[in-house]
Amino acid sequence: GEPAGPRRSWVEVDLGAIAANTRAFVELVQPAQVMAVVKADGYGHGAVEVARVALEAGARYLAVATTSEGVALRSAGIDAPILVLGVGGAAEPLDRLVEAGLSATVTTEQAARRLDAAARSRGRRVRVHLKVDTGMGRLGVLPDQAAWLAGRVASLPAVELEGVYSHLATADDPDLSYVAIQAARFREAVASVERELGTRAPRLRHLANTAGALSSSDLRWDMVRIGLGLYGYYPAPHLQDRVALRPALRLMAAVSEVRTLPAGSGVSYGRTHVTTRQTTIATLPIGYADGYTRRLSNRGRAAIGGRVYPVVGRICMDQCMVETGDDAPPVGAVACLLGPGDQGEMTVDEAARLTGTIPYEIVTQLGPRLPRVYM
Ligand code: PLP
Repeated sequence: GEPAGPRRSWVEVDLGAIAANTRAFVELVQPAQVMAVVKADGYGHGAVEVARVALEAGARYLAVATTSEGVALRSAGIDAPILVLGVGGAAEPLDRLVEAGLSATVTTEQAARRLDAAARSRGRRVRVHLKVDTGMGRLGVLPDQAAWLAGRVASLPAVELEGVYSHLATADDPDLSYVAIQAARFREAVASVERELGTRAPRLRHLANTAGALSSSDLRWDMVRIGLGLYGYYPAPHLQDRVALRPALRLMAAVSEVRTLPAGSGVSYGRTHVTTRQTTIATLPIGYADGYTRRLSNRGRAAIGGRVYPVVGRICMDQCMVETGDDAPPVGAVACLLGPGDQGEMTVDEAARLTGTIPYEIVTQLGPRLPRVYM
């Protein structure tokens, strides 16, 4: 952990919320299992802590984007199964993947052969999940070649074909017609693999992300891959009534300076805010280099001591300002810039909407300079 003492700016993570969100998905999708997606440092929340809590709350599998992310979880003592969702081509350190006992995503025969060789030379076996591209257009063997590739992979002595999966491109859209097309292609691909392999067919078939898991029980198969929902966000407003989720994260900063400025004072670069009266400006030691995006300049909002104040002027690299008017919060007062909204602070969803992005990008941009503090 983080040493105690005064902090400048930090990310507070409510692990109780992550546990509750995990349990909500575990219950919703059972008998299907939950794979907790903790790539990109647990969507900015801290992969190790999120992984531990999600496993404790009933998740059965973890997912990361890269071998390095999986190795970091192993180094922290996590021994649950971990699937590497990405494929790094020739650059993927397959020897490290095998040594760490990670499960690999396989999309080509060549990659499967390299994995087999890496495992055999170490006297080990490696678990693989065959990825089928049913319409995401990103990664995977095309459905008509899935059975052929599954046969090749299953014939490799050090490879265990544990899973077959695909990824939905539009599961957050209320119109599920393209999801239905992908789901049908996945059903056909799975059936062809099962015909090819019989009793050696992979036991874990998975298709749904958070949006897929929420939108239809038909998409859940043996396991669902839950990222965004674990952290307490909904992929789309129409999915909010399916399960109760709690945002786990707060972006915090302690007021670093407080001054009373006269009317007509410019605040920050470009003088985009000019005071209209004598007023108090509080400076916060957090900026766009921390992931508090500059696109929230003159739009952000902070809760300090039960009151809500606007972020004024441009957000700088390392600092930003809020106008507190006739209030004068003391230096050291704690400001909440993003959170669940219970104190009037801006929510992650609102920040995403205002800046033309998605909650995923807001939380994964929170930088390494911000210590993660667990509650
Ligand atoms: N599965 C795959 C292959 C992914 O790339 C991701 C993340 O983007 C997820 C599942 C989790 O998605 P979500 O965070 O929408 O649940």
